[in-house]
Amino acid sequence: MTRQRRRKKNHFPLFLSLLLLICIGLLLCVLLNVPERLVDSFRKPNPAGSDPGSSVVSETAAALPADEIPQAESKEPAQEADAQIHSLPVYPISPSRVTYQDGFYYEPVSDTKELMERIRPYSFNESVNTKVSYEDLSYLRVRYVNFQDQDCEGELICSNQIAQDLLEIFYILWKDRYQIESIRLIDDFQADDTASMEADNTSAFNYRYSTGSTKYLSNHSYGLSIDINPLYNPYVATDKNGNRTVEPSSAAPYANRSLDFAHKIDKEDLCYQLFTKYGFTWGGDWKSVKDYQHFEKEIK
Ligand SMILES: [Zn+2]
Repeated sequence: MTRQRRRKKNHFPLFLSLLLLICIGLLLCVLLNVPERLVDSFRKPNPAGSDPGSSVVSETAAALPADEIPQAESKEPAQEADAQIHSLPVYPISPSRVTYQDGFYYEPVSDTKELMERIRPYSFNESVNTKVSYEDLSYLRVRYVNFQDQDCEGELICSNQIAQDLLEIFYILWKDRYQIESIRLIDDFQADDTASMEADNTSAFNYRYSTGSTKYLSNHSYGLSIDINPLYNPYVATDKNGNRTVEPSSAAPYANRSLDFAHKIDKEDLCYQLFTKYGFTWGGDWKSVKDYQHFEKEIK
């Protein structure tokens, strides 16, 4: 009896200790909110399907109207932008190709039959072109950074006489991550200058009249001019009565150059500084009209 009693007395403190440990454990669970999290992870579906811890965020998003759902963490816009990057045609390598840096080269337009056929009805304007031959023109490939800050590849056609200048300028712009929305041949727009400008496309050669003229050939006809980010840097003409014309008309919000906005070319802009350094003049310096997208080089 004495032995049995002693054993019972020994078990009682052990039981109390276990009870105390259980109580402390339960208290910790309540304080850390563990049961609710455990229940939550099983109860709430996870629409994202990847991060089980995001159930609370998902519930918040579902409760908001669609246009108020925060988008900052979404990767969808970048993926959409990826899909919009224009893929360029593949041409045979010309034996006369001049490579300045990786991804920056030019070669004679006349070396590539497919290219001549591509531009003949459009920028080359064969039916009326009496002044420029394929041999006068170079085809350029450059790299650039688009408005989504993605690396892209662009193509240009210009006079042989400014091909090296353009390669060097575009190389510096690319190294500096200067943003250009699009660099495609204007032939992709059937040589329609308005369509190319509305698409904010940067381009050079196009055998056509000057903007606002039906008499004088533009310097683009000789491949000696280039238009950069034209939607944000439009052509602006003001007549004697103060009536203003903006080309393209959709660029009217960017005609007031006293405003501050992205992609505006002014004298502080790297594009302006580079082109003028290489001997180009800027349309924004013209007196009668202003062509803020336009740089051209006079060749003597
Ligand atoms: Zn121009």
